[in-house]
Amino acid sequence: MAATRQTVAQTLEEVIAWRPVLAPVLRSFEPLFSAQEELVGVLAENLKEQAAALPQGQTDRMDQGVSLLAGATFAGFSPAVRTSAEKLLPLLSRMDAVVPHKDALADFFLKSDDTVAQHVEELVAAVASGNKKAIEGLAEKIEVDPLVLHFAAGFVISPVLHALTSLVASSGDEAPWEAGDVWRQGYCPMCGALPTMGWMDKPAIDDKNAFLAGGGGKKHLHCGTCGADWKFRRGACPACGEEGSGVMELLRESGTAAHGERLDWCTKCKSYCPAVDLREREFIPNLDALALGMMHLDMVAARRKLKPVKPSFWNMF
Ligand SMILES: [Zn+2]
Ligand SMILES: [Zn+2]
Repeated sequence: MAATRQTVAQTLEEVIAWRPVLAPVLRSFEPLFSAQEELVGVLAENLKEQAAALPQGQTDRMDQGVSLLAGATFAGFSPAVRTSAEKLLPLLSRMDAVVPHKDALADFFLKSDDTVAQHVEELVAAVASGNKKAIEGLAEKIEVDPLVLHFAAGFVISPVLHALTSLVASSGDEAPWEAGDVWRQGYCPMCGALPTMGWMDKPAIDDKNAFLAGGGGKKHLHCGTCGADWKFRRGACPACGEEGSGVMELLRESGTAAHGERLDWCTKCKSYCPAVDLREREFIPNLDALALGMMHLDMVAARRKLKPVKPSFWNMF
């Protein structure tokens, strides 16, 4: 009996039931996050060829810590980005900060000439590799405010990368980075970004025999940029790589039911990653939505002068 996976909307509604104070901000982002979720399935249909062309099954590359998308050109990705932009730009353009730039963004993302297509592919590569300089350079070329391009591109390109990851992860019995536990890094085996969430798995139950196949509690990391999940050592820091007893500490909210939510923070480099222990939850939340729904802990971390392992738009204080 597999635990039910929640949609973005279900995840956020559950968080709102527990923390009504977050309702206004979570409800304002729900349409955008839900639209991204819907896009992943649509885009996966359009990216099969591109996914098949990626360097898969190269265990020596993975063994050396080279992410699957490292050096990818993203040729042929611009139609998928346009599909994503058509759905997301109208939602993004409702935000006050984006309103003055909405025409420039539409000009860039929705046109289909060759120059734009090339720039869009450069932008996908820049977002996938977290190359801020490349995003700023491109912003100058297309005359859009660099911060706005960075913000909008994060939203528009994320479903494209999530679709690609879902194709790669489901191409075999297990994801290429799970085979033989070849991936040992704290950054993403698919795109190379640092993780936005950690999670401890539920006990595994063998469907056919109803035997408990594993006790659960294994640690995984989740990439908000491309959606990949990978196993990681419990006592190690994904940001600085320090490992051992006393390196990682847990921070939980006191006085309320925590629902398995906490921050894992590193005593050496003072960075933190939100995490959820699924053994303490009935359903499996959408991790990208839950990361937003755990912003109350981001605020606790900021007060303690801790830095997110991977900054998101809501925790860049
Ligand atoms: Zn990733
Ligand atoms: Zn660290």
